Amino acid sequence: MPSEDKAEAQQEKEFLQQLLDNGQIEGTAAGITRQVIARGESTLSDRQDWVFNNQVRSKYLLRVCDLCGELIPLSEVMPSMSNGGRCATCASIMGG
Ligand SMILES: [Zn+2]
Repeated sequence: MPSEDKAEAQQEKEFLQQLLDNGQIEGTAAGITRQVIARGESTLSDRQDWVFNNQVRSKYLLRVCDLCGELIPLSEVMPSMSNGGRCATCASIMGG
């Protein structure tokens, strides 16, 4: 189980790095996201954690499909940004 947690954390870091590379996260939130990638969420202050929650976690890590209301897996979040906020299943139902 611990190795699974690590894999998940690794996937999250890679995803956050992707967001930074694509310019999705900017300003203060970008700096905070870099800190999360480098040192983990536990190193954030309350204020930083609040910003990360509002500008990154709720928008990307905990993104919910506009259509079915299900949590969108990390691997489908990027495509969802260009299809109106839908998960892959709903996107294919709606004809992509
Ligand atoms: Zn959906």
